[in-house]
Amino acid sequence: MSSQIDHLLTENRRFAPSPEFAANAVATADLYAQAHADREAFWAEQARALHWHTPFTEVLDWSNPPFAQWFADGELNVAYNCLDRHVEAGAGDRVALLWEGEPGDERRITYAELTDEVRRVANVLTDLGVEQGDRVAIYLPMIPEAIAAMLAVARLGAIHSVIFGGFSADSLRTRIDDAGAKLVITSDGGYRKGRVSPLKPAVDQALADRGNGPQGTVEHVLVVRRTENEVGWTEGRDIWWHDTVPQASADHVAQPFPAENPLFILYTSGTTGKPKGILHTSGGYLTQATFTNRVAHDLHPETDVFWCTADIGWITGHTYVTYGPLANGATQVLYEGTPDTPHPGRWWELVEKYGVTILYTAPTAIRSFMKLGREIPQRFDLSSIRLLGSVGEPINPEAWMWYRNIIGAGTAPIIDTWWQTETGAMMISALPGVTETKPGSAQVPLPGIGVDVVDESGEHVGNGNGGLLVLTKPWPSMLRGLWGDPERFVETYWEKFQDKGYYFAGDGARLDDDGDVWFLGRVDDVMNVSGHRLSTTEIESALVGNEAVAEAAVVGASDETTGQAVVAFVIIKQSYLDAHSPEGLAGTLRQWVGEQIGPIARPRDVYIVGELPKTRSGKIMRRLLRDVAEGREVGDTTTLADTAVMSVISAQVK
Ligand code: ATP
Ligand code: MG
Repeated sequence: MSSQIDHLLTENRRFAPSPEFAANAVATADLYAQAHADREAFWAEQARALHWHTPFTEVLDWSNPPFAQWFADGELNVAYNCLDRHVEAGAGDRVALLWEGEPGDERRITYAELTDEVRRVANVLTDLGVEQGDRVAIYLPMIPEAIAAMLAVARLGAIHSVIFGGFSADSLRTRIDDAGAKLVITSDGGYRKGRVSPLKPAVDQALADRGNGPQGTVEHVLVVRRTENEVGWTEGRDIWWHDTVPQASADHVAQPFPAENPLFILYTSGTTGKPKGILHTSGGYLTQATFTNRVAHDLHPETDVFWCTADIGWITGHTYVTYGPLANGATQVLYEGTPDTPHPGRWWELVEKYGVTILYTAPTAIRSFMKLGREIPQRFDLSSIRLLGSVGEPINPEAWMWYRNIIGAGTAPIIDTWWQTETGAMMISALPGVTETKPGSAQVPLPGIGVDVVDESGEHVGNGNGGLLVLTKPWPSMLRGLWGDPERFVETYWEKFQDKGYYFAGDGARLDDDGDVWFLGRVDDVMNVSGHRLSTTEIESALVGNEAVAEAAVVGASDETTGQAVVAFVIIKQSYLDAHSPEGLAGTLRQWVGEQIGPIARPRDVYIVGELPKTRSGKIMRRLLRDVAEGREVGDTTTLADTAVMSVISAQVK
């Protein structure tokens, strides 16, 4: 079967960088030339922006692919790079975290204060027996202690596994067991949607309710007091953070560890199947996190107020909340709660209050703000914003335009950044001040990154064609494996294009006439209608382009005549729901898609639903919708943000 994906939607809008922006931009076009001239020398130069206790002499060892080593004979301490070195350089008084709790409590934490806190936590962890290579599970809300915990683990050369605070006891247990964690760091709870959301009970349950399984590796549970709800207590195992950390010494000398010392395990969100324990190491990861955060976010650490809205339980929170911004010495906003608590303008209130200059968020958030209407952000002063970023899913051109016009005053450049838990840091993105941007396209590989779109046999498809996205060259922040499963690592990512040595990303993409990359959806989700391979992203973008539609998800369901048929699930804006019948809306939308992209893409069914199934990081889980569209029992829903949503959708479809 051909891997060509028929491309049907066109987009001609272009936005050149303003001369003022370009004049002050961190990135220059010269970076591409430098990387092109000598890729390894280029990455070595970026790595030297970090502090190395022992400088490296080798850059890349690719003698045993796909197992890469970067900067292998160098030694560094990741936490020292994020903290102590800024204090030693005189920036100790700079604010690292502008933290705001959901109830409105605030803390401003300087680099000097955060460094002290992390040293104390490191001393406590050492007392609890944590050493290099040990695994520590972190199950915390978005509070400063979460970042301090990650950095303290890193400081000791141990390995953190951050588990999203919304996951159940069950997911927690599988992840704790898979990693063999020695310590769990949690809190009594966190604030979500105006209420206390307890966390400790899930830890207690994960550790207690072990059936006939192994007794488990966890020796202690370190508990932050955040919400002051009653918690169960296991004497000898459980320890309060406030009983130990403030009392601990703030003297702690960061030891050097090899560049390839593991830094963290992070389980993917499970959009396409069972979560995988992605393993990242230290020197290469920190190099690419720091570099991309600086050039793609155009970060000026002395003057910018950066805000990446991702939870630390997601890779975006690791790379662009904890590691990138802190290694760059930036000031950033950290917010504990949900965007609509206590009012739907909360995010915009925070932008105004803290003078956020760079905002990095996900298309799902942007679409939900669109649904609520522009009046809400327009009540706030967003004039501090000068750059916008998007990550996590393709951003539909309509959402891109709304983001630029309503949040970015029609002037802020938007970077649409493509990357994965596996890639560790951004891989494809415009460079602000350099690239002319296009709504809906992620555009170009970052300097030093090798990307191609190929057919099933690994051949370049050429401009104007669709195919499979591959990464053609090893990169510093690449995953080093799947925890405990080297075979699945090779099988999942490397076997498909073994001859070429390409990494298979699992995403469909297209090159336009300029050679820019457009993402078309997961390869697993591509539909085949009467022999035409159709992109979920394109049809969803067409639907979102209709003024009645707030959100859309499209899947291919088996069909006797066409092989597969397009089935759409759409959320309609309230004002349109009130004024039109569901049948009328469905008919209008079928016709609309036919006009926008052609009869072949016209959905067989349009279901009007109230919600879509999403992962914790806001991605649509199309495989579950396919189950509904094909009348099957709905598959594994454990990584959904709201597990009840599927029964509601199934009922609405009937
Ligand atoms: P799993 O691998 O378990 O199914 P996941 O792929 O959703 O989970 P992540 O690593 O968080 O977990 O997501 C990476 C994926 O997100 C990419 O492979 C791609 O499909 C999508 N993605 C991320 N950023 C973009 C973007 N800017 N444009 C298009 N797609 C994106
Ligand atoms: Mg994935």
